[in-house]
This record gives sequence, structure tokens and C-alpha cells, in this order.
Amino acid sequence: MLNSNMFKLLTLISLILLSASCERSEAKRVSSFTTQPIIPVKEVYKAKVGQVKRGQGLYQALKSVSIDNSMALTIINALRDEVEFSKLKVGDKLEAVFNQNKELVEFSLAQNPAEKHVVRLNRNTGKWDYHLREEETHWNARILEGELRSGSTLIEDLLARGLAPSVANEIINVLLCKVNFRMNARMGDRYKVLLNERKHNEETIQTKILYTSYSGERAGTHEAFFYEDEEKSSTYTAHYTERGQALIRSGLRYPLSSLHVRSGYGWRRHPVTGRRAMHRGVDLRGRRGRPVHAVAAGKVILSTYNKYAGNKVAIRHRDGSTSYYLHLNKRGVNKGDWVRTYQVIGTVGSTGRVTGPHLHFGFKKPNGRWMNPLSKRMIATPRLTGKRFLKLKEQIAQTKALLIDLEVSKKAKYILADIPNIEKDIEKARENKYLFSL
Ligand SMILES: [Zn+2]
Repeated sequence: MLNSNMFKLLTLISLILLSASCERSEAKRVSSFTTQPIIPVKEVYKAKVGQVKRGQGLYQALKSVSIDNSMALTIINALRDEVEFSKLKVGDKLEAVFNQNKELVEFSLAQNPAEKHVVRLNRNTGKWDYHLREEETHWNARILEGELRSGSTLIEDLLARGLAPSVANEIINVLLCKVNFRMNARMGDRYKVLLNERKHNEETIQTKILYTSYSGERAGTHEAFFYEDEEKSSTYTAHYTERGQALIRSGLRYPLSSLHVRSGYGWRRHPVTGRRAMHRGVDLRGRRGRPVHAVAAGKVILSTYNKYAGNKVAIRHRDGSTSYYLHLNKRGVNKGDWVRTYQVIGTVGSTGRVTGPHLHFGFKKPNGRWMNPLSKRMIATPRLTGKRFLKLKEQIAQTKALLIDLEVSKKAKYILADIPNIEKDIEKARENKYLFSL
């Protein structure tokens, strides 16, 4: 605040001086120009490039391009609203630009070849300005369809046809909600996928699976449509049946990487007060600083501190149930954030009324009543309702229209390709004189 006010004051003073000197030098402007040419100060910049390596977070990756700890925090804060750090992956490219005094002046992060998140030091404000440097890309839709051959599984078939493993897995996971491949997949079963691929110089940098279908004698016929929610990072963005049933496999994960129950759910003597009380959750052993994970995807509805619960995070899940994480050392999410399954939301700690570091993990049913979190296995996937269901129907209509367009244009291509063949066949038939004998 003080800095920016001082800065404004300085700017004002220099403007006044500048305007005053302009008036005075009016008469000898020409000579001053000829005797004192403006020589731009030559800046020498040096760039350092690197990439995210296995097991690295952005913080460690920044060190590899010579960005020190305190500057790393500044950069991470400048990028926080624009980049989803949880989507950082091995191979993402970093570039740091330094001036001759070895001060950082620009940093960029590229998560794909077409988009660069850039933060640059603004000399006037002293702040880091963000912009997205984008190269031209285009979306291209195509249909991929086929038939299960003997000895081949669907995933093998999809990979053999050049799909990225992440895309092939997404298709399988959607279909697994409806098809028991081990029991019911048969040779000759048919599948169809509508892909929308974002291309940069012929390279696919993003894929949306707009439609998936599978049809077999034993498996039955199943269709899945991709729905994209208006809210960014929403867990509603997923695949659905035409009637709005979510096709998400959503077994609950554990909040810690290892599970050791220190104190179970139910009536017990409170370790601090000594009184008999209902323990509405389980206490899990964990060393201070260990990551705490969201047990399922959802929206953070609470991220606060109080003297009993300490640092507390609550996540509302798709089926209306809520998971609670108490006594955290640090909270890594804010109210309103969408989190993915197993995303780190904080660290184990001993804040609040506790005897030592542990995680109190609680669970409320959709009706608001507490339950033993360890007996909760799955997040039920209800249908989309209300506005979201109407949007799904709109998007399904668009997808179907696109499918028809592509089928028609494909047929059109076949017809064009067939014409010379037919003529050749007729020609051949004439030569052999059996045209009319058919
Ligand atoms: Zn507890």
C-alpha cells in the first residue's frame, strides 16, 4: 500500500518535472535532439529452459531453472488462478528469463505445445502480469469404430488404432459402468467412438470423447454422451446415458496412503476431556505433514479453523454426502474449489483440541446424519437434474447431429470412391460378357 502510494507520488513528481522541462526547452529542441540522441540501454537477457521431471511439483521444477525459493512462491502465486497445478505432468516445459543482474524478468510454463502461461515482471507496477500465449489450433471430429476380433480385447484394439492410453482408458472406464467385459464381451461385438481432437501442427494435444457405444449379443447395447458443465473443473463434466445417469466409476479412496485406525467410530471416552462422548468419525494415524487426500471428487464447502476441530476441510460429493478432514496442519484448498478424487487437500497435523497429530475423518450421509466413514464404499451417481439435465439434452442433440454429419460425409466419400469401381466392374463384365447373366 505504502509502496504503491509512494510510487504514484514519484510518478506524479516526475510528470510535473517532465512537463516543466518541456516548456523550457521548447526553443532549443532541435539542437538538443541533434546533440543528445537517445541511446536505448541494451539489456542482455538469458533464458534457462527445463521440464517437469517425475515426482516433481512445480516448486521443485522451478528450482531446476534457477528460481530460488522465495521467487518460486511469487511465481506460483502469480499463476495460481490460471494454471491447475494438479494437472502438472512429466515433460511440461518451463522457461525462465533473467536480465544481466541475474534477476528473473519472465517465466513461462507450457502444458502443451500450443499454450504457454507467461508471467512477466511489470517494471511500472513491480507486479507479475499474466498472459496466455496461444498458438493456432483447430478441433477435428472423427468416428472410430470397429469390431472385436478373436483374441483381442477392446483396450488392445483401441491402443492398436493409435489412441493415447489415457483416452483408451477413459473409454473403457465409461463402458465398464455398463458392460462386464470379462463375462459378456464376445467376438464380433461392435463399438463406436466419436472423438473431437484438438490439433496443433497435426499433433493431437487434447481429446474429448463425445460419444461412446458398445453393442454385443450378450453385453447388450449401451451409449454414453459427454457432458461439459458450464463451471470450470466441475465434477459434473463426465459421461452420461441419454437419461442423465452418470457413468463414473467412483469407489471411495482412503484419505491417507496407509490406513491405521487409532480410534474408531461410536461411543468412547474422549482422550482430552475424559467424558463419554460420541465419536463422529475415525481417527487415523499419520505423521505430521503427510498428505491428506480427498476420498472422492466434489466441491469444497468448508475450509476453516476453529479451536476444537483445528484446520478443517469438508467436501460435498456428487451424491450429496460430505466428507470431513480435521486437525490438519495445513489446508490446501479453499471453499468453492472443485477437487478430484485423491487430490491432496492438506497435511496431517495436530491443530485444535487433540493430544497429538492424527487425521479425524468423518462422513455425513446425504440426509445430514453422521455415519462410519469406513463403511462408506461408493459414491452413488444420481441422474443429472434441472438445468444441468436440460443442458445435457442440448449437448446430446449436438453430438447426434455431428455423428450424422460425419456418417453422411463418410458415406458420401464411399459413394464417390465406389463409382469408378462400379464402372470398372461393368467394364470387366462387358469384357467377359456376363453382365446380363447376373
Ligand atoms: Zn476424532
